[in-house]
Amino acid sequence: MKKSMGRNIRCGAAAAILGAMLCMPMAVFAGGKTEAAAMNTEMAAKGEKNAKYVFLFIGDGMAMPQISAAEVYSKALSSKDIAIKKLGFSQFPVSGLTTTFDAGSFITDSASAGTALASGNKTLNGVVNMDVSKTVQFKTLAEYAHETGMKVGIVSNVSLDHATPAVFYAKSPSRGNYYDIAVQLSSSEPDVVEIAKGKGYTYVNSPEAFKALKSGAGKVLAVNRTLQDSEAMPFEIDRKTDDLSLADYTKKGIELLSDDPDGFFMMVEGGKVDWACHANDAAAAIRDTLAFDDAIASAVEFAGKHPEETLIVVTGDHETGGMTIGFAGTKYSTFFDKAGLQKMSYVAFDDTVLAPYKKATAKEMAQLADLVPAIKDAFGLDYATLSPVQKEQLEFAFQRSMGNQVERSVVEDQYLLYGGYEPLTVKITQLMNQTAGIGWTSYAHTGVPVVTFAKGVHQELFSGYYDNTDIFKKMASAMNITLAAK
Ligand SMILES: [Zn+2]
Repeated sequence: MKKSMGRNIRCGAAAAILGAMLCMPMAVFAGGKTEAAAMNTEMAAKGEKNAKYVFLFIGDGMAMPQISAAEVYSKALSSKDIAIKKLGFSQFPVSGLTTTFDAGSFITDSASAGTALASGNKTLNGVVNMDVSKTVQFKTLAEYAHETGMKVGIVSNVSLDHATPAVFYAKSPSRGNYYDIAVQLSSSEPDVVEIAKGKGYTYVNSPEAFKALKSGAGKVLAVNRTLQDSEAMPFEIDRKTDDLSLADYTKKGIELLSDDPDGFFMMVEGGKVDWACHANDAAAAIRDTLAFDDAIASAVEFAGKHPEETLIVVTGDHETGGMTIGFAGTKYSTFFDKAGLQKMSYVAFDDTVLAPYKKATAKEMAQLADLVPAIKDAFGLDYATLSPVQKEQLEFAFQRSMGNQVERSVVEDQYLLYGGYEPLTVKITQLMNQTAGIGWTSYAHTGVPVVTFAKGVHQELFSGYYDNTDIFKKMASAMNITLAAK
């Protein structure tokens, strides 16, 4: 885990994940049998087919505010009308609301939320696929799917040891080679790559080798060539055109998995919506939400060819940042087109502008004026248009980033003001948000429900207001999987 400022945003505990990987799972499943069995019987009575091609898309940190912001933004770029441009997945025929609290808090992390989605059980923050006593391991939907003969694919744009992908693969080394494809876009763990190679995975990490993968490639571990913060794929706003996108990985996953007559289960995580929201970087979050929608569009295209056997479920694991549309300073107005002026994420600004400046400039010589043109270029934020209070806040944050003493001590307020990020950068994004009319309450997750969308066979199961553990049960039911008894 990186210790650098602003990067300490991991949603799960790496140690717990590695521990789970190395333990022999007990394959114990707790809960859900009765309801799932009842749903199975009901569907069989109707003569409906089982879901054979099953997608679970998880937007990390994506609840209604993130979806709405992307929809307002998409329309605001081309029109002053008070209207939205819906995302592809927000037009799915069925939607529901999903509670996300875990066994120990109303505010879940990605490990306990992922465990709920993957295994149907609530647990504590930081725990991956184990119960609250950390002694019983849960059996996951990926394992059940594999047992029925389905291929399993895992795609994420954050690194292998992050919680959301981990909950779907965490037991794989001890369970044998049950993934036909583990499309994993980045990994800072060379030993994981070595383990995968030892288990017969084909390992690729160049766009050329990736594009050359063909149906019948067998087990594949694909790692993205370009890695940004904490060994994750770059934010979509920073992605170069010759780098692969989350949609590219999803499409290739479909190509490699769909040659199996028994079907497949594929989990795709949009992991960096969460990271952007931790930093309150609205433009980066919006662009990653749109990239996530693009990845889902690949599944929708596949579903068009197999409409009676494909199920696509899209959900979030929790909300991040307490994002909302509306800010005290802009009252009833919004200016989302301003977010379109931003050209890079907070991370890219730290790496390409602020860090070099800090390195080259003695702190007593540093002046905010030196960076004003770069701030305008990167964020579209015009210093001259800021209010006196905003200018003072920016100057204050600049001095903090340079490590200079300021008149009043902010040591205790540092987290509240900047959330552990570079003070200057997070202040710029805060001013950007304020100008656009976007509000935030936190640098962590929040406890509001997320939205779940469904399209395809047995989509109707996902209507209503239910818990995140129910998503596992509903998906198992749609796949006609008989869950193990407690
Ligand atoms: Zn998070």
